[in-house]
Amino acid sequence: MSERAAPFYCPYCGDEDLRPSEEGHGAWECAACNRAFQLKFLGLMACGLQPNSTGGEPT
Ligand SMILES: [Zn+2]
Repeated sequence: MSERAAPFYCPYCGDEDLRPSEEGHGAWECAACNRAFQLKFLGLMACGLQPNSTGGEPT
């Protein structure tokens, strides 16, 4: 299981010719429009958590 998130399309021009950039982790370059961009994992959204996950009562 890979932690790397790979974009399928360039967010700027929509082309599929993406390649990993040497700029760093999560960085990609689009060969079609010569743009470099970076994906960043911001964390899990709170709405996906269980409402009772904070401090469960001991059984
Ligand atoms: Zn592009």
